[in-house]
Amino acid sequence: MADYREMWRSLGIDLESHDNLLDILGKLYGDIYLSQNKRPEGMEYLDFVVSEVHGYRIKELLDAQKVGSKVFGTFCVFVPEELIWAADGICVGLCAGAEIGKGDAEKVLPRSICPLIKSFMGFKLAHLCPYTELCDLIIGETTCDGKKKAFEIFSEFKSTYVMETPQMKREKDYDLWRNEVYKLKEKVEEVTGKEITPERLKSAIKLINDRRRALKRLNKLRREIPVPISGRDALLINQISFYDDPKRFTEKVNLLCDELEKRIERKEGVVSDKTVRVLLAGSPMALPNWKLPGVIESSGAVIVDEESCIGERNIRAMVDESGETMEELIDALVDRYMQIDCACFTPNNERIEHIIQLAKDFKVDGVIHYTLQFCDPYLVESYKVEKALEKEGIPVLRIETDYSMEDVEQLKTRIEAFVEVLR
Ligand code: SF4
Ligand code: SF4
Repeated sequence: MADYREMWRSLGIDLESHDNLLDILGKLYGDIYLSQNKRPEGMEYLDFVVSEVHGYRIKELLDAQKVGSKVFGTFCVFVPEELIWAADGICVGLCAGAEIGKGDAEKVLPRSICPLIKSFMGFKLAHLCPYTELCDLIIGETTCDGKKKAFEIFSEFKSTYVMETPQMKREKDYDLWRNEVYKLKEKVEEVTGKEITPERLKSAIKLINDRRRALKRLNKLRREIPVPISGRDALLINQISFYDDPKRFTEKVNLLCDELEKRIERKEGVVSDKTVRVLLAGSPMALPNWKLPGVIESSGAVIVDEESCIGERNIRAMVDESGETMEELIDALVDRYMQIDCACFTPNNERIEHIIQLAKDFKVDGVIHYTLQFCDPYLVESYKVEKALEKEGIPVLRIETDYSMEDVEQLKTRIEAFVEVLR
């Protein structure tokens, strides 16, 4: 990696703690990722992106800002990023998957709050995330109570705009959301100084749909037995989709899919066709939260799909590309985003139907339902998920954990026992 210290210093990064973070990340990546066998060659690009996560991409964003682009940071797949790209802005999904900065976060947040919320606050307060620092605006949302209240505090440290997300899916909720989408359009136009025209929005919709199409293509290939790519690598690809340049990323994922299709023709899997196949469902796994996938795939199973926001939930629904007027295009965005089956909605039966369908489509032997500690929406919903899966005869294991490494051995014991039963 080139020397980026001057760039980080200019962004106000705490260099000493940041070195520490990069060391930890590098070691974790080596243990969980680079130690895998039979990785597709196309993963080289993703390895490069991770190795330059705070380097090359940050430089690209700063260069774009120098010529007038604005960068927007988000924490939820509910924010319609198409509006940002349509105004020549850049959207980055910010990481919130590491424990580092926890001490700083606990000075302003309760200890008993979801680790994802603690993580985004910690990254900011400890000055560890160059993405957060360089963003012109952070767009938050009112999805869950913890996040919505945390954004009040976060806004004291960083320019933040919050969208109100509905909790139900009635007609009046669609109206509320449509209104919020129009308000975001105005906000983005104000920050970028660019008018979002129907032509620009249409082309941004296509850009992001293309990325979703590539990720869908990748996921479809994972239905094969033997599966051509590990769950860890597929998760990483989904995590990187949130901050890489969408056009370049889409091209690289499609090239990787070409390679995987050849593997499938040769019946060449990343693991044997006898390996236990697992669907991982639940709370989002933001970068660099790789603990559970690492434990599962070193316990004799392979993850063949993720029912989460860093996975199916983010790519399932497409935006209708046929609209021509602003009204038609905004309606298409509203309809697409209201299809998200986040546990913050009530009722949320479609999520349970989706999980059962995925379990069948991906021919899984069992489901691991993963919840971040103190994530009430997914924790409470796990009861209904478990009941529905049991009714279908699909074995399920419920896991609740955080970002610390303290429970790795305990998780390993439980997961190995579950895999043994599935076997
Ligand atoms: S789980 Fe819900 S709140 Fe969290 S990122 Fe996904 S859609 Fe947003
Ligand atoms: S993981 Fe759960 S508690 Fe945490 S921010 Fe997302 S919905 Fe809220």
